[in-house]
Amino acid sequence: MATDWHEKARTLDIPSQMMINGELVYAASGKTFASVSPVDGRHLADVACGDVEDVDRAVAAARLAFEDGRWSARAPAERKLVLRRFADLLRTHRDELALLETLDMGKPIADSTSIDTRAVANCFDWYGEAIDKIYDEIAPTAPGTVAMVTKEPLGVVAAVVPWNFPMVMAAWKVAPALATGNSVILKPAEQSPLTAIRLGELALEAGIPPGVFNVVTGDGPEVGRALGLHMDVDGLFFTGSTQVGKYFMMYSAQSNLKRLGLELGGKSPNIILSSYRDTVHAATTSAHSAFFNQGEMCTCPSRLIVERSIHAQVVETLVEIAKSYAPGDPLDPATSMGAMVDERHTGRVLQFVEHAAEDGATLATGGRRARQQTGGCYIEPTIFDNASNDMRIAQEEIFGPLLTVIPVDSVDEAVKIANESCYGLASAVWTDDLSIAHKVSKGIRAGLVYVNCYDCDDLTTPFGGFKESGIGRDKSLHAIDKYVELKTTWMNVACRD
Ligand code: NAD
Repeated sequence: MATDWHEKARTLDIPSQMMINGELVYAASGKTFASVSPVDGRHLADVACGDVEDVDRAVAAARLAFEDGRWSARAPAERKLVLRRFADLLRTHRDELALLETLDMGKPIADSTSIDTRAVANCFDWYGEAIDKIYDEIAPTAPGTVAMVTKEPLGVVAAVVPWNFPMVMAAWKVAPALATGNSVILKPAEQSPLTAIRLGELALEAGIPPGVFNVVTGDGPEVGRALGLHMDVDGLFFTGSTQVGKYFMMYSAQSNLKRLGLELGGKSPNIILSSYRDTVHAATTSAHSAFFNQGEMCTCPSRLIVERSIHAQVVETLVEIAKSYAPGDPLDPATSMGAMVDERHTGRVLQFVEHAAEDGATLATGGRRARQQTGGCYIEPTIFDNASNDMRIAQEEIFGPLLTVIPVDSVDEAVKIANESCYGLASAVWTDDLSIAHKVSKGIRAGLVYVNCYDCDDLTTPFGGFKESGIGRDKSLHAIDKYVELKTTWMNVACRD
């Protein structure tokens, strides 16, 4: 029988406390903030609003846990078993987690059940499974010496994450950090704190000892800043806007030079060339990727650069596909586009519709708020055509369902425009010409290049950006390096006789 998500939502327990040292606690100040659902404006909970004092409590608990070795000193194979048990528990609680995520930040329930929750469980499985297969090194030094190069956990690490994939972004950081033996403090975005709290509870249930995984909820400029400035936090791993990423560099410089990992914004170019036979397929895939997750995607292919000879057909297809993304009830499994995260962000995205008109782009479809009678936050899938790359809709990250189409006359012009951005996260090129595919993918300055596809995803591949899209990579075995220090231990083993 199909799940009635509205019925489930009525009886759902909404978490509202923080997790510090294995206990659910209120903020020391007693302050709370209202969690309001963008689905229909309903009040979900009053969530603990932490501050510096709560951060201090969490860091002290994490430090103690790290120093006494209750997790950090366990054999990797033991940590693996616990992380895999955690992954199993996440699967058992799939529906509850998916529903919390959808109510909290508005994405369609079909996505949170089939994509987000699955990705999170897989992530803990994958890093758990990997960690007892990673070897240290013996350097090829002279006879009579042994030089061991070993990986040691950083210590106390903080993860500060955004609201667009609240659980997935948390898992990409927390899983490798825990696998390598660190103690962790997770700070979810204030727009989407609910699943993070449940992750903390389920981690405890799975056997991750108290104090090893803490969750502090609250505002960015308060909790995030306090973590960034904390003298006893050894590493801070952030996903969010480029602006706030720059703050974290300052916080690190102003405190203890803590290691940073920064996964930041994007304005990804997606080049469709006339040398790709199936224009309709390229345009269809591009539209799906642009409108997926309401366009609230760091990798959203929001700048579509298309050769003029196929431009009309591409735009026609985009407009047709946009119709299938008419915003719907996020709790209906048939919905493909849900709600924007909140009122403030909805207003910000709609401002770009005005900017586009002022700058002279052509509105091909959409551009309006939708489903207002529900009390929720919805925007029509929107396409702007005949844009130029200097317009605000082509340069600024919108983080909503607004697609900008820029016609060009040559491959070289396409690559030039692709690179004229402060960002360098994802990119794509569509062509059947192998030489052009090589040339363009080499020429684009971005951490991810898709050729004849978009948004391919696997934990085995690193994820992150060039330029102002960030520093470091999430996912894959490369991410392990962020959470460890390398130690070189020299031993004199020469015979003394
Ligand atoms: P944001 O930068 O506003 O917030 C992210 C986190 O930082 C939140 O937890 C927030 O509370 C905290 N924060 C906010 N102000 C702070 C401050 N002054 N000091 C310390 N912490 C602070 O980003 P957002 O609006 O939540 O998310 C959208 C952004 O995230 C977009 O720019 C998007 O591209 C980016 N993102 C990047 C990736 C990636 O992997 N590169 C993935 C997802 C999202």
